[in-house]
Amino acid sequence: ELKKNVDILIIGAGPSGCVAASYLHKKGFTVQVVEKNRFPRFAIGESLLPRCMDHFEEVGLLDCLQAQNYEVKKGARFLKDGGVCNFDFSKKHTEGWDWTWQVPRAHFDNALAQELTQRGVAISFEKEVTAVTFAEDGTSTTTVKSDDGSHTNIQAKFIVDSSGFGRVLPRLLGLDVPSEMPKHSSIFTHVKDLKRPQGTEGTLITFDVVTDEVWLWVIPFSNGMTSLGYVGPTEFLEKYEGTTTEKMKEMMQLSTHYHDRFEGIDYEFEPIEIKNYSKSVSKLYGKGFVLTGNSAEFLDPVFSSGVTFATESALLSAKLISRQLNGKTVDWEKEYSTYIKEGVAVFATYVKEWYTGNLQKIFFHRPENPDIKKKICAVLAGYVWDKSNPFVKNHNRLVKTVAHFIKIEEESMQ
Ligand code: FAD
Repeated sequence: ELKKNVDILIIGAGPSGCVAASYLHKKGFTVQVVEKNRFPRFAIGESLLPRCMDHFEEVGLLDCLQAQNYEVKKGARFLKDGGVCNFDFSKKHTEGWDWTWQVPRAHFDNALAQELTQRGVAISFEKEVTAVTFAEDGTSTTTVKSDDGSHTNIQAKFIVDSSGFGRVLPRLLGLDVPSEMPKHSSIFTHVKDLKRPQGTEGTLITFDVVTDEVWLWVIPFSNGMTSLGYVGPTEFLEKYEGTTTEKMKEMMQLSTHYHDRFEGIDYEFEPIEIKNYSKSVSKLYGKGFVLTGNSAEFLDPVFSSGVTFATESALLSAKLISRQLNGKTVDWEKEYSTYIKEGVAVFATYVKEWYTGNLQKIFFHRPENPDIKKKICAVLAGYVWDKSNPFVKNHNRLVKTVAHFIKIEEESMQ
């Protein structure tokens, strides 16, 4: 059933692959998506940002998602040392979506893939890309291994690598480079939220900050389950011993706010540990291929930018491929790489400044400055390309500067 000769081969049927496939199929190209796993399959990355709603809407996948009744996310709450910082996406500098969802990804990714299949997009499961060769002109031959062990070759004019942490082309072409992010790891699981409180407390997405570098996510889903995950320096997580269940149970004691709510509830699966999750590459495209989503770059879970970056890069690359295959010239360096890297750089600053403690200084300083908050809120909603926002345009100095003034003010009060 695999198409052996296509315009575009897409590797991976996560959100990135599905958004690219949806766009290119609508434009009339022949597309084949190959996915290593059988769906539904577990994936991490459950808190979305408003910005990704633009992408799902533009490729016609929003209605299908709306029908799933996922938990609506209108902002995010950060807790630290008894302090609370609530972001409300309706109070943000940049115009755009002011809500999104908290989603169990196995269900979410499967809903997207099924919708595409119904529209006639060729998605083949349990098909793993094992090798790729490129000709001079950028056309390629990709070897795909089926679950029965047989191999098939697919000829394509263009490849979109949306293989996430599979990182197919970065591995096969030697494009991996060390990430500049701090070495951090994560451990996470799902629970039946049996003691979920009524009202917003029960369904609010929360980041419970234990120290500048260690935090817990609590992401309640509309199906009654809640996702729990700790993030921290790899060295810190390695101090915990035993099975991942034992480690997770012990770490849950770090959260004064959530300890009782999740105490005594069994984990739905042995907690999963991902060590040193940050990834980077030497280039985002080449002749006949482009990297999107996690296959290109992954920074950190702290601002939930992963899926939004995956759909932003997928949609943009799909538009450029469409133009190129229609005979027009595309400047991949400027139109893709530079644009994507600009957004990544903004998020990278916020991630770095989170772990230096500077951003947390701003979040938890009282009284709040509503103007600054509105601008940071737009960044946290994923609108990181809006240069009218000084917290985007001058990201690399503004966060530091504001934190610096807060420190001076705090010192003068002592
Ligand atoms: P994926 O969703 O990973 O999809 C890639 C697909 O490619 C998979 O289905 C895989 O089976 C397939 N594949 C892999 N190898 C092959 C192969 N050889 N052949 C064929 N198919 C292949 N993001 C958020 O937005 N919000 C969050 O709250 C969040 N939390 C996170 C927490 C942690 C601890 C981590 C590590 C990440 C988190 N992320 C979060 C990031 C998020 O997981 C990813 O950014 C997102 O899933 C990327 O989507 P994708 O489509 O690029 O890749």
